[in-house]
Amino acid sequence: MGAQYLDGLNDAQRLAVEHGTQGGGCPPLLVIAGAGSGKTNTLAHRVAHLVATGADPRRILLMTFSRRAAAEMTSRAGRILARALGESGRAMAEALQWSGTFHAMSARLLREYAPEIGLDPAFTILDREDSADLMALVRGELGLGKTEKRFPMKGTCLSIYSRAVNAQDELEPVLGRHFPWCAMWADELRGLFQAYVGAKQRQGVLDYDDLLLYLAQLCGEPAFAAHIGARFDHVLVDEYQDTNRLQAAILLGLKPSGEGVTVVGDDAQSIYSFRAATIRNILDFPSSFHPPARVVTLERNYRSTDTILAAANDVIGLSSERFTKNLWTDRQSQEKPAIVVVRDEQAQAGFIAESVLAQREDGLALKDQAVLFRTSHHSGPVEVELTRRNIPFVKFGGLKFLESAHVKDLLAVLRFAENPRDRVAGFRVLRLMEGIGPATAGKALDLVAAAAVPEAAVEAFPAPPRADRAWTDFARAFGLLRSGAVPWPAELAAARSWYEPHLERRFEDPETRLADLVQLESIAAAAPSRQRFLVDLTLDPPDATSAEAGAPLLDEDYLILSTIHSAKGQEWRSVYVLNVVDGCIPSDMSTGRADEIEEERRLLYVGMTRARDRLQLVVPQRFYTHGQASRGDRHVYAARTRFIPSALLDRFDLTHWPKAPQAAEEGRSGEPRPAIDIAARMRAMWGTG
Ligand code: ATP
Ligand code: MG
Repeated sequence: MGAQYLDGLNDAQRLAVEHGTQGGGCPPLLVIAGAGSGKTNTLAHRVAHLVATGADPRRILLMTFSRRAAAEMTSRAGRILARALGESGRAMAEALQWSGTFHAMSARLLREYAPEIGLDPAFTILDREDSADLMALVRGELGLGKTEKRFPMKGTCLSIYSRAVNAQDELEPVLGRHFPWCAMWADELRGLFQAYVGAKQRQGVLDYDDLLLYLAQLCGEPAFAAHIGARFDHVLVDEYQDTNRLQAAILLGLKPSGEGVTVVGDDAQSIYSFRAATIRNILDFPSSFHPPARVVTLERNYRSTDTILAAANDVIGLSSERFTKNLWTDRQSQEKPAIVVVRDEQAQAGFIAESVLAQREDGLALKDQAVLFRTSHHSGPVEVELTRRNIPFVKFGGLKFLESAHVKDLLAVLRFAENPRDRVAGFRVLRLMEGIGPATAGKALDLVAAAAVPEAAVEAFPAPPRADRAWTDFARAFGLLRSGAVPWPAELAAARSWYEPHLERRFEDPETRLADLVQLESIAAAAPSRQRFLVDLTLDPPDATSAEAGAPLLDEDYLILSTIHSAKGQEWRSVYVLNVVDGCIPSDMSTGRADEIEEERRLLYVGMTRARDRLQLVVPQRFYTHGQASRGDRHVYAARTRFIPSALLDRFDLTHWPKAPQAAEEGRSGEPRPAIDIAARMRAMWGTG
């Protein structure tokens, strides 16, 4: 008896989905396959099938790269289950509570095991900026940088620290390899990092790296690891090629035999080695177990047309180390991917706006189109152009909502209530009040941290006369938040009403900012508690939207702008990749080492394979680089990236479009305007359907 929901799968996918569900244990499984071959889809079916065949959904741990991806996966599994089993299927899917990023799952597990490992269960999490602030605080306390003006700044200190933690490496080699200009400070840095770790522990806060580090430590203790591992019958991981050593250690610690473990990934899409991710995790996975893991490869691509796939395969084909090969598709197209050569980034922005609108005219919603780029700031001119023309867009992987000062202020209020020892949050909150300087804030925070009842300490604190009224107001609000008398999410509104007068004093545009905070309340409504809200938001904040156009509502049509890194796992009917030039892809920061060049090649491959029907690589002839300090910002005359297989692409020369304002030089006037070429091509594709 076959389940109907498996009918659409091909044989290899079905093998992976059904693996271990027919009794006799569930040995480790690796699905390794190229882009668009249905890995994520297979994983969703596998989760559904596991549940449908009797696995307890509360005992399934599902780890993906982003919260968005996790939510999509569980809702896909939910739909399959609902179709197969009706209402009860839907209920089962709702019990899939253990799904999210490695960091978020780590936070939840650590919370539970905190008392046993000397961690405060009310710990709060510092984002990168907060971590840097704490580093600065400690740096100041130690007097570093006072006499030695050239001592590295807080951001550099944090980068050095984080690199050492993630690579699980000693300080000296990390300095030697990546920060040679700081090598002379090794002793001071060591002292600083010791103090930084001490400060985090005293305050009951964890930074991002700590989440993995603590859990990896915990999983290194066989008794604990077995205890945690026994809570889950199945552990499934998507995008395994982008995990680092700590993440692999966690996985292997939880399930040393590999029983019930499924990992899925594509070695050709590994693009996070700059964050210490290592391709070895996926390559070594089969042999990490005895007997070795079962390996399933998928070779049929369902996403892209044959012409897009051919070009993408060509880009990656030259790459040295590769497990997954031979993708094929039966989606035939007459249209090759395009290389569109434009004069400069300004023209590139104009082209994108024109082209996106033309495609919309021809029936392709904005949501079916995406503009991808290497680094967040590369989309600047495009954003300006889109805003000017009122084309709504959402940007992934850019500045996060959470990074704006007013949102951080409000979250700090909640975090301080959650964990009164959290000094970065506390400092931020107390300093909002007029008349509270750093010394007073520091003194108050010392008292609060030492007090058994922090809210009483706040109330009793002798604030300076200038701040007396403000302090009384704060003490009342803080007491209310600590008391638990206001249910979640109304608590957020309570915090906001305390914050509002400060918002008005602090910013010139309080109305817009207030609207953001109200938007925050709708996000809060989806979280079960203050604690979960803070964890989710800190680890995976929502994306920034086009400020001028206003935040598009979810059901509205908008264009996606995304870094290639953040576009991982997703697909659109039409994709543009910006700045496909040497100096950008590959980046001019990495034109040195062969392994770095290979990562750049994979990055382009990931970008290209997001496209289903149409792919356009844009090549500005003049390209503005934000150079490193030594070289400065400059314009360079760019060459098309070395990775492009020209025979497989059509070339469109738009270098005379739009005409320069002074347009003295007329050129070959008999030719049709290139911009019209593109538009016609779009109509041919989408017009008749
Ligand atoms: P990536 O490497 O980019 O993460 P992937 O291997 O995870 O890609 P999916 O995103 O799961 O691929 O699937 C790509 C597309 O192919 C999706 O639109 C999916 O619905 C479709 N697809 C996958 N399997 C099948 C199938 N058996 N029949 C029809 N369509 C399929
Ligand atoms: Mg995927």
